[in-house]
Parts: sequence; C-alpha cells; structure tokens
Amino acid sequence: MKKFSEMEYVRPDTEQAKKELAALTEQLKKAETYEEARAAFLEMDKGNRHVMTASTIAQIRHDINTKDAFYDGESKFWDSEMPKLQEAMMPFVMAMLESRFRPQFEEEFGDLYFRNAEIQLKSFSPAIVEDMMEENRLTSEYEDLLASAQVPFEGKTYTLSQMTPFKNDPDDARRLAAWQAEGQWYKDHQEQLDSIYDSLVHLRDRMGRKLGYDGYTELGYYRMGRNCYDRNDVEKFRNAVQKYLVPVAAEVFEEQAVRLGKTYPMSYADNALEFRSGNPKPQGSAQDILKAGLKFYNELSPETSKFFNTMMDYELMDVLSTEGKRGGGYCTGLYDYNVPFIFANFNGTQGDVEVVTHEAGHAFAAYMNAERIPSDYIWPTMEACEVHSMSMEFFAENWADDFFGSDARKYRYSHLAGALKFIPYGT
Ligand SMILES: [Zn+2]
Repeated sequence: MKKFSEMEYVRPDTEQAKKELAALTEQLKKAETYEEARAAFLEMDKGNRHVMTASTIAQIRHDINTKDAFYDGESKFWDSEMPKLQEAMMPFVMAMLESRFRPQFEEEFGDLYFRNAEIQLKSFSPAIVEDMMEENRLTSEYEDLLASAQVPFEGKTYTLSQMTPFKNDPDDARRLAAWQAEGQWYKDHQEQLDSIYDSLVHLRDRMGRKLGYDGYTELGYYRMGRNCYDRNDVEKFRNAVQKYLVPVAAEVFEEQAVRLGKTYPMSYADNALEFRSGNPKPQGSAQDILKAGLKFYNELSPETSKFFNTMMDYELMDVLSTEGKRGGGYCTGLYDYNVPFIFANFNGTQGDVEVVTHEAGHAFAAYMNAERIPSDYIWPTMEACEVHSMSMEFFAENWADDFFGSDARKYRYSHLAGALKFIPYGT
C-alpha cells in the first residue's frame, strides 16, 4: 500500500479502455458458458475500478488545491470524459440485462446489479452525453468559484470554510458582522452564481425532456439510484416530517431563542449560536481531534481500529482548511487500493469532530465493502449512505469527553438537537 501522496497519477488511455469495453461486450454476448460471461464481467469491473481510481485521485488533488494547473486540467478532462465513458458502458449493461446467464449472475452476485442497470437505462441516453459534459463543467465552475472566495474580515481575508468559526462567535455583533461579510461576497458574485445555477436548471430540465419525462424530477430520482421507492413514497414521508417533526424542531429553536435572550424566529446569525456561552468547541488542535478519533476507533472495535489506523498511516484524510481548497467535505473511494478517502475542511468548530465521526462513518462502510464485486456495490445510494455516517456519530457520543472536554455536555445536546433539526431541513 502507498500513502496518498505517493500514489502515482497517470491519465489512463480512455480510448483504449473504450475499445476493451467493446471487446468485452462482444465476449459477453457470444459467451457459450457462464464461466466465459463471468470472465467478461470481472474484467469489466477491474477496468472500471482502475479508471475510477485515476479520476478520483485527480479530483481529490484538484479539490485540495484548485489553483494547481495540472490537476485543474485533469479535472476538466474527467468532467468531459466521464459521460463518454458512461456511454461506452451502456452496450455492456444492455448485454448483461439480455444475457441468458442472468440467473447465474443473480445467484452469484445478487440481483441488485440488474435492478440498478434497469434504472441506469432510464437515466441515460447518448442524446444527453453533451448535456452531461456541460453539466459537469458548470458544476465544477460553481465549486471552483466558491473555493476561490476571499472574504475580508477584521483586516484579514478568509475562505468560506475559514469564516465558519466567526459565524458561530458568541459575541452577537462580531457574529453578525461575519455573516454580513460572507453575505457581501455572495452579493458581489451574485450575477455569476445565479447565471451558473440558472444554466444548470435549464440544462437539467432539457435532459429530462430529452429522455421523455416532464422535466428533471423523475430523471433526478433515477440518477439518485432510488431503486425501492418513488415520488409518492417521498411525498408521504415529507408530510409525516411536516406533521410530526417540524413542531419538535420548532420547539428546539424556540428554546434556543429563550437561552440566547432573542425572539423566535431568529436571524441566520442568531440561529448559528446554540448557547449563550458559545457553541461546543473541540479541545486542542486538529492533531488532537485526530488523536481523539484514533482513541475512539481503537476502543470501539478491532475492525474500526484497523480501519482508522489505515486512514492515518496512509494519509487518507485531508482535513486542514487551506487557501484554494474546495469547501465542504466528502468521502470517496480509491478502488485500486481498496481504501476510502476523506476530504474535509477543519476550522476549529464542532464540525471538525463530525468529520472524524460522520465522514469516517461513510469511510468505514466503504472500507468494509472495499472488495465487493461489482464495485458499484461498495456504496449504497446517497440516502442509505447516511445510515452508516449518522450511526457512527451516535456511537461516538460516549467518547465526547475526549473530543470536547468540558464542552461535552453541550455537544451531546447540540448533536441530538442537530440530528432532529436536520430532518425537516434535509427533506
Ligand atoms: Zn454523509
């Protein structure tokens, strides 16, 4: 195993990959025995893993430093190449769906591949390849613009992520000033942001129509890989959230307003402060948070211990917030190496601990599933993913003292309240 910084990035020959994929499709179609069909399937998965690994390494390195010209170029290459690779994959997917060995495949690999393949057919057509390339380009442009933000505040400049601690400051005037400073950056870039967003909305609407839907919504559901519920189910869920959870969440906010001596509903700036004495703050430096994380995973189970030590030893977490780094956090996978990778922006707030618990919860699920075939099985859908991450946050509550010291009690309240408030927001 190599450390992330030592992993070599070479842009794969994607034209060659497409030719190989076409040959494997023929092999699958002509297979006389399950063994032959299976060999084509395994070869396809291996090739897929390799291409995905290269594109992910390029993406991560671009996100870590959006100013790096080489990886900026590679990121742009993958933005336009990925939809073409997906197009090249479709004949293989169709051959799988039509294969007379489907029962044997289902027996060995489960039927999920086929269920997802049917959804893939509903969400893709060569007619939208150009649109998908444009979609990737616009999405990257939006992210790069946010990553480039330099917000002047109290005589210095900060990235959006670095502004977070000021936006939680217990001093009312300072906190409000931070929100206004950040808001000013958005206002200054409103035209650019709105125009990208508007282009994306129209583009996606067009993609939906090209595929025969009324607009984007139905296509969006398929693209999210929702293979066991639909719009009607979501509607019922939303109604239940509104009926049962919104009142509870409102109560949490009302109590917060009383604690702060404010009137409900509060401003964004006041919503951000949970306790008059300040939000729970992790103790120590970024290194201390990772150390507390290591203790937690070491004590939780032998599996989580092995996992987190691997993440630390092989530099599979990039968590410091630096200039030019893309905002937010995510977890992804480096399939050739059978390991996940965590990208985050530590900024001295409780969010840092949630990277070590939440994102690492995703990472642990991926780590345990790393060798699954096909590689599409490594990750559940976007929603099901959150079961692993949010469970890990709750497992970690017993270790809150290590992360937060004397603020642990405030953290436990804030975490539980946050989980409740998130559901109305997230739906
Ligand atoms: Zn998550």
